[in-house]
Amino acid sequence: MAKIKKIIIGNWKMNPATLKEARIIFSKIKKIASLCKKVDTVICPPTLYLSPLFSKSSGGAVALGAQNTSSFEGNGAYTGFVSPSMLKNAGAEFVIIGHSERRREGETDAVINKKILASLSVGLKVIFCVGEKERNHDGHFLEFVKRQIHSGLQGVSKKALPDVLIAYEPVWAIGAENAILPRDLHQMKIFIRKVLSEFFGPNAVEKVPVIYGGTVNPENVETLLLAGEVDGFLVGRESLNSKNFGIILQVAHSLK
Ligand code: PEP
Repeated sequence: MAKIKKIIIGNWKMNPATLKEARIIFSKIKKIASLCKKVDTVICPPTLYLSPLFSKSSGGAVALGAQNTSSFEGNGAYTGFVSPSMLKNAGAEFVIIGHSERRREGETDAVINKKILASLSVGLKVIFCVGEKERNHDGHFLEFVKRQIHSGLQGVSKKALPDVLIAYEPVWAIGAENAILPRDLHQMKIFIRKVLSEFFGPNAVEKVPVIYGGTVNPENVETLLLAGEVDGFLVGRESLNSKNFGIILQVAHSLK
């Protein structure tokens, strides 16, 4: 199987409070990221900060991503929406779609699918979040994740598939005290690969990174990477702490 470069993505959510603070955190992360060449680093700030941070990042070690998009391409009479092409023009290379905090606000699988298709059509790379709300021993959570993947990727062509990353984020592990057990993460990664290859064929999915999100921190990053065998992480809280996020980048960079 082709080796995928590790990718570490920071999701700043609705933080920090000011652009000034955002600039400070971003430039500290940029400095560390420029030394971690074996890792692709992406920061997803609030939409308003994309353009100003982009002017600082051009040609730099950190790519930018948006945290959401509208499902409408281009422009039009859609009050309050920001289209994928606008995000791209503002400097985003990536976009997070289907985060559990948006699903919680009522975003359905059908809307997520439309957003994915619209984003791919303008050349954005999609960080597609999936994950169960809870686990029990009957394995229903596997079916749940499978359904999310099928619905979200409906109509995505094999050609566009390399622009999709699957971010497995079990809702119960987000903003929690503990991350998933590495053994359980590894099982889920294998399961997601199986689902993808049944859907698209084995060759098509080789280059689709499967990353993990949910309480990743400097203490657990090494075990999650080695034993979980994921291709990277989507990091929430610790991505606003440049020191800790820097450690996560350095650990990922130092591992084979
Ligand atoms: C997230 O919200 O995507 C996330 C992974 O958050 P945290 O790292 O804080 O658990």
